[in-house]
Amino acid sequence: MLVVKFGGTSVGDAEAIERVATIVRARLARRPIVVVSAMAGVTNQLLSLAHAAANGGLLAALDAIGDLKQRHTVTAERLLGAPAPQGIISELDALLRELASLAEALATLGFVTPRSLDAIAAIGERLSAPLVTALLLARGIPASLVDARRVIRTDSHFTQAAPDLPAIRQAVFDEVVPVVARDEVPVLGGFIGSNERGVTTTLGRGGSDFSAALIGAALRADAIEIWTDVDGMLTADPRVIPEARRIEQVTFDEAAELASFGAKVLHPSTIAPAVRDGVPVFVFNSRRPADGGGGTRIALDAPRRGVSAIAAKRGVPLVSVRTAEMLLAHGFLRRVFEVFERHRTSVDLVSTSEVSISVTPDDVARLDDVIADLRPLGEVQVQWDCGVIAVVGTGLADGGQYMARAFAALGDTPVHMASLSASGLNLSLVVDGQRVVDTMRRLHAAFFGDGAAA
Ligand code: ASP
Ligand code: MG
Repeated sequence: MLVVKFGGTSVGDAEAIERVATIVRARLARRPIVVVSAMAGVTNQLLSLAHAAANGGLLAALDAIGDLKQRHTVTAERLLGAPAPQGIISELDALLRELASLAEALATLGFVTPRSLDAIAAIGERLSAPLVTALLLARGIPASLVDARRVIRTDSHFTQAAPDLPAIRQAVFDEVVPVVARDEVPVLGGFIGSNERGVTTTLGRGGSDFSAALIGAALRADAIEIWTDVDGMLTADPRVIPEARRIEQVTFDEAAELASFGAKVLHPSTIAPAVRDGVPVFVFNSRRPADGGGGTRIALDAPRRGVSAIAAKRGVPLVSVRTAEMLLAHGFLRRVFEVFERHRTSVDLVSTSEVSISVTPDDVARLDDVIADLRPLGEVQVQWDCGVIAVVGTGLADGGQYMARAFAALGDTPVHMASLSASGLNLSLVVDGQRVVDTMRRLHAAFFGDGAAA
């Protein structure tokens, strides 16, 4: 069995949904299970109309519901012919009426709760899944809608619910497997689930990948395919490095490192359940239904490579605390990190010397408070506009050759801080913000340029 997940842009309009049918048809022999996101942009629209309704903007919210109705109906007509079959139209209408009642309830209450946000956000996938099912059926593909809320069982942490793995496993066998056994393609909305009392929950933004991984793991599927709007993961951001290449295979750890640098293809924590169980995950481009643009395979057994990709993050401050107290003392690092913890600021990189510690915070929202509380500990210096460049590869520290090549490529670029993870997975370099692009180019050319044998 195969779990095939289509993201928001891959079901974003009639043409995209038509391609879904092509992709699913080509996989029928492998017994696919289809997981779909809401149409692109719909989850955002739903959440903002919920807030509008609760804040005196019921009319605007109802307008937005009208727009959603229009978009889904037009898509149904383009796919199925106008007027669209009554079955799908009444299904969409019922959901939109439910949405309007929810918006009216929020307008009366005057506030939103996480639980009400989930009820509203879930409508996006509850709309897209029957639409995709209807199209598959219309194209002669035996398909059957499965209410994802009966399958993805979660706790009650609304907007960020945690999956109940044993319950999901059981539900997959009760609700999904029998459909496959009838030679039909189950179609489920991603992102949504329900708690033990059957109340609708969601897995958090971007949660459709998570749904696909949970189902794939429960089934020990042969693979999970994530169909999105890029050809896979690349050796660098193509806006910075136009000659960036597709990575054919990457380990889960490498993908996690890259995601923390904003490679926004998918968040690896969401596919962890599948990869942990040895189910490989593929990322494909749904605009290229024939071969998905080649794709990237993410798996535990991906080949060990010196360097898989170069990633970067800009607008990062470098915070250093220098104090003679640190010399031969213990407990100093703990005091420094306590300050970050107190202000709920996570730290990315750390490097220490005998009298100083330098860190890059992950987020700058509370940095002023952090700095104020660090001052009593020593002399604090902040270099505001820095960038972090990460050279990522499982085999980075195998022998000295990759490190030597990286440092040779840097030439005379001033490096403010460097950190090599002990596992050798990630060499991070902090450079001036305006040197980021140039440094990325140098490193990319050294590892992936013509003649570079990475
Ligand atoms: N529709 C949800 C979101 O936009 C889930 C997803 O697309 O993965 O966050
Ligand atoms: Mg998405």
